[in-house]
Amino acid sequence: MQHKVTLPSGVDSPIVPPTIDFDQVVSLGRALLIALGEDPDREGLIDTPRRWASWWKEFIEYQPGNTETTFEAITHNQLVVVSGMRVYSLCEHHLLPFSCDISIAYLVKDQVLGLSKFARIAQVFAHRLQIQERLIQSIADEVQRITDSADVAVIGSGVHSCMSMRGIRTDATVSSLTTRGAFESNPDLRADFMRLVTNSSR
Ligand code: ZN
Repeated sequence: MQHKVTLPSGVDSPIVPPTIDFDQVVSLGRALLIALGEDPDREGLIDTPRRWASWWKEFIEYQPGNTETTFEAITHNQLVVVSGMRVYSLCEHHLLPFSCDISIAYLVKDQVLGLSKFARIAQVFAHRLQIQERLIQSIADEVQRITDSADVAVIGSGVHSCMSMRGIRTDATVSSLTTRGAFESNPDLRADFMRLVTNSSR
C-alpha cells in the first residue's frame, strides 16, 4: 500500500510562469503582418493578431498544477522509467516549434513521484523558449529535487522545425541524454534505461 505524503498547504510547484503583455502582443502581431507585406484588415487576417496573442498566452502562461505529489517508497533503489511523453516547445534561436519525446528514469530513494507529475514537469519546461539540451537538463534537475534522488536520467528525442523548414530542410531526430549519479557512474544501469526506453517505443 502506498501512503500519500501530506504536503504543507499552499505548497505547489515552485515554477511560476511569467505573464505576457497581451495587448502589446496583439499590436506586435498586427505590426508583423504589415512588415511582412500583408494587409492586416483583410478578412482572413482580421482576427489573426488576437488569435496569435491568445496562443502566446496559452503557451507562456501554462500552469502545471501541482507537480509535487509524492508517495512513500515501499522498496528502495528500484529503477522507475516513464517514457513516451511528447511535448511541444519553441526553439529560442528561430522561434520555430519542435516536438520532443521525453523519457525519465530515476532510482527510488524515499519518495515515489506520482506518474502524472512527470508529464507536468516535462510540460512546464517545454512551455517556454528553449533549446533541447536545456529542456532535458531542467527536467532532470526538477525530478532530482522533487524525488530527492541523486540518480536521475532523461532522454529527449526532438524533431525541430528549424531543421525541417529552413537551413538544411531535412527531417531528423536529435537525441540528447543527461545522466546524474548512478546513471553516470554505472554503465549497466544506463544500458537498462536505454533498453527499457527502446522496448517501450516499439
Ligand atoms: Zn532553431
